Amino acid sequence: MTPRGFASRISGPDKTRLHGGRQTGTEILTDAFLLSTICKTFLSLQHQQPHIMTDKTLTIKYHEYASTAELPEADRQLLQAAVEAADGAYAPYSSFHVGAAVRLDDGTIVRGSNQENIAYPSGLCAERTALFAAAAQHPQAAGFEAIAIVGRNREGRLCAASPCGACRQVMSEYEQRQGHSMRVLCLMDGGAVRVVGSAADLLPLAFEM
Ligand SMILES: [Zn+2]
Repeated sequence: MTPRGFASRISGPDKTRLHGGRQTGTEILTDAFLLSTICKTFLSLQHQQPHIMTDKTLTIKYHEYASTAELPEADRQLLQAAVEAADGAYAPYSSFHVGAAVRLDDGTIVRGSNQENIAYPSGLCAERTALFAAAAQHPQAAGFEAIAIVGRNREGRLCAASPCGACRQVMSEYEQRQGHSMRVLCLMDGGAVRVVGSAADLLPLAFEM
């Protein structure tokens, strides 16, 4: 069949009006044919639409050292500075002490520890304490080369401490500001050390303006 009815509907005379407001049987069939054609065309177009949603995958690469003994000397020193920094933590509520040490591009090391407060949100993580102190005390520094983070549990044993989301956001912005990456060294349970090459890897799809 050809869309003859469709053509006559568009260009032909107004037959409804010619027949006194009543449709003839032929016109009703033409309407049914027209509706059927539109539905078939719509369904056909639906099948031809390209896929809009796509799956994407993010992968990050990091190094894992079995113990601090495998680290380069400079990184061992940075991790040790973080261990010592944990001694300065004020954590009467969580009893979880965290130490962080930031190494500036010129080799200077700045330490920080978690500082809690009875009004919980008023406290601050060790990482941000160290980063803000480093930025405030060394405004002329070219940037931060690395940050090391360790935890010490209520039993006094060293343990894993991975940066929270807010600290990752701060690290990521300092990276953007300085124009080069900052490595992140985290002690893991059992004495292994995880080294991520860039703070941005810890916060994919970060907030931007
Ligand atoms: Zn944090």
